[in-house]
Amino acid sequence: SIVVTGATGHLGRLVVTHLLADGVPAGSIVAAGRRTEALADLAERGVRVARLDYGQPETVAAALEGAETVLLISGSEVGQRVEQHRAVIEAAKGAGVRRLVYTSAPQADTSPLVLAPEHRATEEILRGSGLVFTILRNGWYTENYLGDVQRAGETGEIVGAYGDGRVASAPRDDFAAAAAVVLRTEGHDDAVYELSGDEAWGFDELAAAASELLGRPVAYRAVSSAQRAADLAAAGLDEGTVGFVVALEENTRDGLLAATPGDLARLLGRPTTPLVDALRAALAQA
Ligand code: NDP
Repeated sequence: SIVVTGATGHLGRLVVTHLLADGVPAGSIVAAGRRTEALADLAERGVRVARLDYGQPETVAAALEGAETVLLISGSEVGQRVEQHRAVIEAAKGAGVRRLVYTSAPQADTSPLVLAPEHRATEEILRGSGLVFTILRNGWYTENYLGDVQRAGETGEIVGAYGDGRVASAPRDDFAAAAAVVLRTEGHDDAVYELSGDEAWGFDELAAAASELLGRPVAYRAVSSAQRAADLAAAGLDEGTVGFVVALEENTRDGLLAATPGDLARLLGRPTTPLVDALRAALAQA
């Protein structure tokens, strides 16, 4: 069977949906997560559902029993993820899993990206585990910018310390479709994919896309890191969050999310979804 962790989340649900659409029998897919009530519709389609909490080793072992391939979707509890991911990797080893697929971050082994350390540590644990692996270094989701676009509907501007940085984003659904390909086909043993949108866009282009979708003028206003930090603090964000947001915008400015090696399009067998199309779909769903 194929076990998908984080199936209660956005990406995991899309991966399971793609596996089904690609013709993988529902009974050989296990959708695993904490809030199994959120998986009821998948259970109705014949998908097996397993409760899996990274903090409860017995649930991890039970969910992975008999699994051939596991997709470990990186968790969302930043700071706790290395131990959580280690628990899944060790349980996979114990269960005799053949291959573990992990969702990482761009150039996680070398990148100064603020979010890279936990991914780098997880990749190292995985490499040291002796399991066959596939690493999906997912670039940024286009949906991450939905909030900026929605705010621009009120303010007419997109503000950030992004400078002239560019982002090779793709919608979650593209990353999910590629993950499904990697899970259900052979030829990905010990492979590392750098997944990103085909084209890196700048924030002027994001503003232009927002303008097109909202039907009103939208401009990008670049601000300094210090100004950005002051604005976010004034808006009520706590110090830790301000530091994180500004660091991520600086990482973006420095081009850490801009690489376009084409791995995502190659796995998909089609171009990735363009910025404006991905934003249109996200707005329609919001
Ligand atoms: P979501 O927040 O929608 O999903 C996160 C998933 O992780 C949920 O299913 C959640 O389960 C699960 N999870 C968190 N903690 C635990 C735990 N202790 N035990 C079991 N499951 C847990 O994120 P997305 O689906 O959008 O993205 C998937 C992952 O990608 C994120 O978790 C994050 O690591 C990373 N990410 C990547 C981004 C990018 O732009 N590339 C942006 C944001 C995140 P539950 O539903 O029970 O909470």
